[in-house]
Amino acid sequence: MTQRTQRERLENIGALLVVGSGKGGVGKSTVSVNLAVALAKRGASVGLLDGDAYGPSVPMMLGVRKRAASKGSEADLPLAERRDLPPEKKLKPLMRYGMKIMSVGFFIGEEQAVAPMPDVLGVLIRQLFYSVDWGALDYLIIDLPPGTSEPQATLCREMQIDGAVLVTTPQDVARIDTSKALAMFQEADVPVLGVVQNMDGFLCPHCGEHVEIFPRSQETRAQLDELPLLGRIPLDPAAVINGDKGRPVVVSMPDSSVASAFTSMAEQVAMTLQARRSEAEEEQQFTTESIPEETEKEREAEDERED
Ligand code: ADP
Repeated sequence: MTQRTQRERLENIGALLVVGSGKGGVGKSTVSVNLAVALAKRGASVGLLDGDAYGPSVPMMLGVRKRAASKGSEADLPLAERRDLPPEKKLKPLMRYGMKIMSVGFFIGEEQAVAPMPDVLGVLIRQLFYSVDWGALDYLIIDLPPGTSEPQATLCREMQIDGAVLVTTPQDVARIDTSKALAMFQEADVPVLGVVQNMDGFLCPHCGEHVEIFPRSQETRAQLDELPLLGRIPLDPAAVINGDKGRPVVVSMPDSSVASAFTSMAEQVAMTLQARRSEAEEEQQFTTESIPEETEKEREAEDERED
């Protein structure tokens, strides 16, 4: 396993989170956006870095597709320059719903048919991580590209990630790929906070009845089943319509069951991170306190030897 202590970390970022999925189309960007907005609604300062080059989902879901030269899209990316960029060289993120947003899509063009090669995409994501003027944040969330190879694996090894959220649907095909994503995070020693089961049944807009759409998975994936379930999100047409209009469902329909599921997912994420932080602090305190004790014992042993 790689040494976590040597990994790259940005100052002033409380927690770096990634949202990942084994395959595309399962709702990873929808979860990233609603998680980010729900955390911001709890009063946290939040940044969202869209690293999914396979669609303009995040900017579209947040209604920030218009690009302005001053906001980064036509600004030069200070490639090959890392850390300690002077503020005037940093890219200004776009602001929406109180959050700071940046997307790889701003640099590769929405209509471009071919996504960049994985290593190029990895460089772009890492560069935006460093070159954007994120300021002080409680959470920086990266919407990773779907998949379990590159650039995800390298990014996970290089950055000090505080938590990963996995997104899947109830189907076999998605769950099999999700367990691969879980293995990738575990391999890189990234703590997985839990899994979100999206598109879990359909909420009829007419009668409100919950209808199963995908056949329940028959695949037992022991490792996946052991993860905390951060939420079951039903398919809801309103989520798509509002998403396409740039108004995530936690903002446009805060009382809907889909929004409540996202809100409680955000609460669980915040609580889990807080618990982990307290645990780490306690451990640190214990280590610091135990040093003089050991020294004392050593001194006693030495005294005995001298006697
Ligand atoms: P991914 O990032 O995994 O490719 P997206 O978040 O872009 O997936 O979602 C794919 C499509 O499915 C989008 O059009 C999105 O609006 C829709 N979608 C995602 N989750 C839900 C849901 N719970 N109910 C309805 N539509 C959804």
